[in-house]
Parts: sequence; structure tokens; C-alpha cells
Amino acid sequence: GAKARGRGAWCFFHEDMTLAARERLAMESRLRLALTQGHLKLYFQPQVDIASGRIVGAEALVRWLDPHEGLISPARFIPVAEVSGVIGPLGEWVMREVCLQGQRWREAGLPELTLAVNLSPRQFHLTDVAGCAASALAESGFPAHRLELELTETALAERPEEARQVLLRLQALGVRMAVDDFGTGYSSLAHLKRFPIDVLKIDQGFIRDIPRSGDDMAISAAIIAMGHSLGLQVLAEGVETQEQLAFLRERGCDRYQGYLCSRPVPVAEFTALLQAQA
Ligand code: C2E
Ligand code: MG
Ligand code: MG
Ligand code: MG
Repeated sequence: GAKARGRGAWCFFHEDMTLAARERLAMESRLRLALTQGHLKLYFQPQVDIASGRIVGAEALVRWLDPHEGLISPARFIPVAEVSGVIGPLGEWVMREVCLQGQRWREAGLPELTLAVNLSPRQFHLTDVAGCAASALAESGFPAHRLELELTETALAERPEEARQVLLRLQALGVRMAVDDFGTGYSSLAHLKRFPIDVLKIDQGFIRDIPRSGDDMAISAAIIAMGHSLGLQVLAEGVETQEQLAFLRERGCDRYQGYLCSRPVPVAEFTALLQAQA
């Protein structure tokens, strides 16, 4: 009868939720283990100065190399890290590793690089990111002005006054701030003048269909012009073709990142890219 079916449906739904929760919990404990066992790796994707064509920096992108599952994408495990709180120790590990690696490259006599670290919204609001950056910089000797922290508009839109205080502390340390995935979030343009920001990263969604999409060209050109008139640097993400690069160069975009130069690569490969251009 209806009652039995209703009850059955409820049970099914309930068990389904439990399964999802169990899966999340399993991933969470595997992630904690991966962190302590050294199964998380940092990959680096070059950032190219468009005017000179030279690699001037890199974004650090974390990967999970699971001995059984292989490579697990951050799109899968960062959300789990965020809800479970693992993002605290994971974020600290990323910050410390990036500064240590940056200092190794400096000591190897390679050209100065700006290294970018992603901060997810909860990581930004619930952990002491300024304290974490300060100790990673002090421990490594990596210069603060060479560290760039990437935040999404979502992180800024959430409790903006609190966000502003954290950004002011980071600015006082001397680190640079970038808005990641710019143009896709819910932040108002007023945030750009309220927050101490140095760089806008145009979301790859606006770059992908250039030159086919006139709208995307108009939006990208507007972000570059607006960024520059606010005194910000502008970086385009997800550049895959020469046509896209030509368009960005013509519009005066400062830096780009994308498969056209290189995918994110492990440290040794990134070092080889730097040596090849030296
Ligand atoms: P994101 O910060 O916006 O990073 C850009 C993503 O675009 C990266 O994906 C990168 O591999 C990809 N990408 C770069 N160039 C191209 C291109 O030319 N074409 C296409 N189709 N894609 C390109 P990835 O590495 O899978 O990272 C996904 C997201 O995970 C990142 O987005 C970031 O939000 C998050 N993430 C990665 N590493 C960390 C980390 O250490 N901490 C935190 N909190 N989040 C991280
Ligand atoms: Mg990023
Ligand atoms: Mg992005
Ligand atoms: Mg993204």
C-alpha cells in the first residue's frame, strides 16, 4: 500500500544518504592519511608575461597520487577537505611546500618567480591564513612579494568585513592578492576598490570561445581595461590557442596561463622548462 511504499521510499533515501556520508567519511580519512604519507604532490603551471613571452611565475596546483586509484583531481578532494576541516593541515602543507620550493629555485639561481597558492573559501574564513603565510615565509626565506594568494569572489562576498581584515593583514606581510575565476562569482565590482587586491584572473570560461564568441571577447577586453584603470594586473586563465594569445596581447593583458604554454607539471619538469628558456 501507499504507506508501505512511502516507508520503503524513506528507507531507501535514508540509506542512500548514509552511503554518501560514509563515502565522504572514507575519503576524508584516506585524505588525512595521504597527507601524512606524502601522497599529495604539488604541480606547477607556468604563468607567462605576455609582452616578453617569458615564464615569470607559476600557480601551484595540488594533486593526490593514490597508490590504488592513481591521480585524483583537486576538484574531487578539495570540497571534501573543506567540509571536513582537513583543508586546515592541507592548506598549511601547500603554503609551506610552495615557499620551500620557491626558495630552492632561487638558490639554484633561476630567474625570480612569483608563485601562486589557491585558498578556498572555508580555508580563508576558518583558518589563520595570514599566520600560516607568515610562518611559511619565515621558515623558507622566500620573499613575501613573490607569493601571490588566489581567492575566489565567493570568499570575498562571504562576510566581507572579516575578509577585508584578513586581506589587510596579508597586505601588511607584503604578499600579493589575486581574484581567481574573476567574472563568475557573486561579488560586486565595489569589492575591487574596497579590498587590497593586486591581480584579476579572468576565468577560463571567458577565454575558451575566443575568437568565436564576440561576447566573450567584449567581456575579456572590458575586464582588462577595468583592471588596468584600477591599477591591477590582469592574467588570463585557460589560454589554449595562438589566436587567444594574440587577442590578449592586443588588449594589453599582462600574463597568461594555459595549455598553450604548458599543463601543470611536477617540480622536475617545471625546472626543465625554466632551464630551457634561460
Ligand atoms: P583554479 O585555481 O581556477 O585552477 C585552474 C584550473 O584550470 C586547474 O585545474 C588547471 O589545471 C586548469 N587549466 C589550466 N590551464 C588550462 C587550459 O588551458 N585549459 C583547461 N581546460 N584547463 C586548464 P586543477 O589543477 O584540476 O584545479 C582545479 C581547482 O582546484 C583549482 O581551480 C582550485 O580552485 C582548486 N585547487 C587546486 N589546488 C589547490 C590547492 O592547493 N588549494 C586549494 N584550496 N584549492 C586548490
Ligand atoms: Mg587558481
Ligand atoms: Mg581559476
Ligand atoms: Mg577554478
